[in-house]
Amino acid sequence: LSERLGSVFDRLTKQGALTEADVDTALREVRVALLEADVSLAVARDFVKAVKGKATGQAVTKSVTPGQQVVKIVHDELVRTLAGDGPADALKIDNPPATILMVGLQGSGKTTTTAKLAKRLKEKSGKRVLLASLDTNRPAAMEQLAILAGQIGVDSLPIVKGETAVQIAKRAKTQAAMGGYDVVFLDTAGRLHIDEVLMDEVQSVRDIAQPRETLLVVDGLTGQDAVNVATEFDGKVGITGVVLTRMDGDGRGGAALSMRAVTGKPIRFVGLGEKMDALETFEPDRVAGRILGMGDIVALVEKARETFEAEQAERMARRFAKGLFNMNDLRSQLEQMLKMGGMQGVMGMLPGMGKMAKAAEDAGFDDKMLRRQIALIQAMTKKERANPDMLQASRKKRIAAGAGLDVAELNRLLKQHKQMADMMKKMGKGGMMKQAVKAMM
Ligand code: GDP
Ligand code: MG
Repeated sequence: LSERLGSVFDRLTKQGALTEADVDTALREVRVALLEADVSLAVARDFVKAVKGKATGQAVTKSVTPGQQVVKIVHDELVRTLAGDGPADALKIDNPPATILMVGLQGSGKTTTTAKLAKRLKEKSGKRVLLASLDTNRPAAMEQLAILAGQIGVDSLPIVKGETAVQIAKRAKTQAAMGGYDVVFLDTAGRLHIDEVLMDEVQSVRDIAQPRETLLVVDGLTGQDAVNVATEFDGKVGITGVVLTRMDGDGRGGAALSMRAVTGKPIRFVGLGEKMDALETFEPDRVAGRILGMGDIVALVEKARETFEAEQAERMARRFAKGLFNMNDLRSQLEQMLKMGGMQGVMGMLPGMGKMAKAAEDAGFDDKMLRRQIALIQAMTKKERANPDMLQASRKKRIAAGAGLDVAELNRLLKQHKQMADMMKKMGKGGMMKQAVKAMM
């Protein structure tokens, strides 16, 4: 794969903004990478399409090829898509006893994951946990859970022969309430394939158990089938999250993206082995890197970006320290501010600027104003920007008209520039400037 990418990148060496052709070429490789990682065809297609719209026209970082830049954009988008709203490991388990229903196909790792999660809740949160196996299909399944419970030192519901899954669920709830447990896990039976009997049983159990969380356990090595599994379970039972098992194998875990895209439900945990502590909170960044399989490129672009920003910060800090702060500098500051969420965001980061931020807010200093100021600077000639002192009445009139604004606004900008230039000079002497500029980048 890297060989193929290498050749693509050789062809893409021009700098500037990403053209549609740059993006198309790189995304063809990305699409292959996603399919190789077992992302389902439809999901890979939609994902690539969404990224294409976002990537075209974006700037290419210095010393990076457009193809590499696209890979970084894809990676970031992948992370965003994979990430849920809140922390992945925040299970809803207030109001004890809280029921957690574990569902999934046979062999996906439900029983193992049930015990792993129980151990985690016990050790990390000090919860009292009860485990109940509802797997009436395989007698050994109930014993398996009881044995694991013993190993991790939590209670399991005594096994009663001949009960249905629904009866066991009821008994587990009663026992959990009476026994003062915080959490009760219901480990359901699975089939090799989705079928009606399985779904009906899970639905009945859900209706009785009223779970706070319903976790779908999916084998991370599952390829295209992950979409069907996720769709079926979410549609029929309604899941609140996903656990991806066998991520210790060499599968690339494309199922994660497929399931996230299809259900919109968060991936909560990742299983990394058969041992009881082989369970980790889902980290979108790590799984994204694995799915894309282009970690070196992502790291390279990040490094290039850091280097570039550090260089820029150095350069600006040197200029400011010498008292050089012209309109071009102000403009790049204003643009940076817009990028960073406006005035308030930036001022908060600069040492000693809290008061100024407040004053700016009082003066109605907002993003719209930043844009107007940038327009004013754009309307200046190169000479005027380098040397704002030369701006006399006629030039001011021309500039204001060019930006479609009035001279009063331009005067405010000039005054602000002067104040900032003075402040830069002072800060430059104290050696604070470099830090401040870096914080803004
Ligand atoms: P269930 O049928 O869904 O309850 O699946 P089990 O929990 O019985 O797991 C089936 C097999 O997969 C067992 O041998 C587990 O030890 C193994 N297993 C479960 N999770 C993982 C995992 O994250 N990594 C590895 N390597 N094996 C796992
Ligand atoms: Mg099981």
